[in-house]
Amino acid sequence: MSDHPVTRATFDDVMLPNYAPAAIVPVRAAGSRVWDQEEREYIDFAGGIAVNCLGHCHPALVNALKAQGEKLWHVSNIWTNEPALRLAKKLTEKTFAEKVYFCNSGAEANEAALKLARRWALEVHGAEKNQIIAFNQSFHGRTFFTVTVGGQAAYSDGFGPKPGGVEHTDFNDLAALEALMSDKTCAVIIEPIQGEGGVLPADEAYLQGVRDLCDKHNALLIFDEVQTGAGRTGHLYAYQAYGVVPDILTSAKGLGGGIPIGAMLTTTDVGQHLAFGTHGSTYGGNPLACAVAEAAFDLISSDAVLQGVAAREATIRQAVADINAKYSVFTEVRGKGLLLGLVLADEYKGKGRDFIAACIDQGLMILVAGPNVLRFAPALVISDDELADGLSRFEKAIAAVAQAS
Ligand SMILES: *Cc1c(COP(=O)(O)O)cnc(C)c1O
Repeated sequence: MSDHPVTRATFDDVMLPNYAPAAIVPVRAAGSRVWDQEEREYIDFAGGIAVNCLGHCHPALVNALKAQGEKLWHVSNIWTNEPALRLAKKLTEKTFAEKVYFCNSGAEANEAALKLARRWALEVHGAEKNQIIAFNQSFHGRTFFTVTVGGQAAYSDGFGPKPGGVEHTDFNDLAALEALMSDKTCAVIIEPIQGEGGVLPADEAYLQGVRDLCDKHNALLIFDEVQTGAGRTGHLYAYQAYGVVPDILTSAKGLGGGIPIGAMLTTTDVGQHLAFGTHGSTYGGNPLACAVAEAAFDLISSDAVLQGVAAREATIRQAVADINAKYSVFTEVRGKGLLLGLVLADEYKGKGRDFIAACIDQGLMILVAGPNVLRFAPALVISDDELADGLSRFEKAIAAVAQAS
């Protein structure tokens, strides 16, 4: 037994029951290896849910954290600060955006995006233009506005009256979207690849079609790249590979490489409608988070890191195909770069959690995306060794689940 003064059992004593964490308690990590309280080692294919894009405790991020930690942590937005200004400059240089708003999470970035869209519509077109369209199975965060916009009733029901003017339609169905849109549409918000909803990529022609419909109806197009951004797909942002440019883009998760930060990116023309005093955040854009995120951004926006993603994707796809040839557990592998969804065959439908548990038994951390899809979101820089170890542990876990059923 562990002699740690706090254990997994402590969770049930002192934490709210809205999470059900696994039995192990991680205590330290390096690269893509994590150790728990009992010194057991795990390979990390979860990446803190697509957050730790440079692995754990990357030296460049540790250095940035230490250096800024001895300099200036927080001043609030009554003053600006150098790390925030530098990071905003870099984000605008490498994307379509001309203006940046910083916050602390993906939900906050989307909250800001949706509020900006409403504000823009009200000021430019009038009160009638307030319809926000989102997609079934989408995920945009857990504030009441973002959870209402997200397309999963399980997350938004049970809290009383919801914010109005929000409608949902099927993803990848252009005719359905067209039928719903009108000049009352204020904004369409979409993940270029639905992450939580099952790692489901938008078709290329579809995403262009969504852009065209937004143009036709004078609606803003918001790309939620909280999960697909920050190099995850092998491009800095997924829209850059699609060649479809949004009016607003939200980023978080990998943006900080593990430190909490979110950003909303937009154009000068749209952004001017979030005028002085209309929105804000105490911590948003604080120098400590921005300094770490700047160090992360310098790496993830580099050719060296981005170009390494495709090779790692190919290694995983090949290994999964080989494993599947033996065990027939998956029907397809979806996604792009290092955001991959392994779709469970009928026989294993609904059993995603069993696979997570079997992987933990073998010393591997993975994710699910809904009950029927296993999800990998490892570090963009995961080493060959770590990848090989993780994949061989994955095969053992698959064999164990296949034998048990
Ligand atoms: C995780 C996620 C969010 C929410 O981000 P938080 O940091 O948890 O608030 C929003 N949108 C997408 C696409 C996500 O994957």
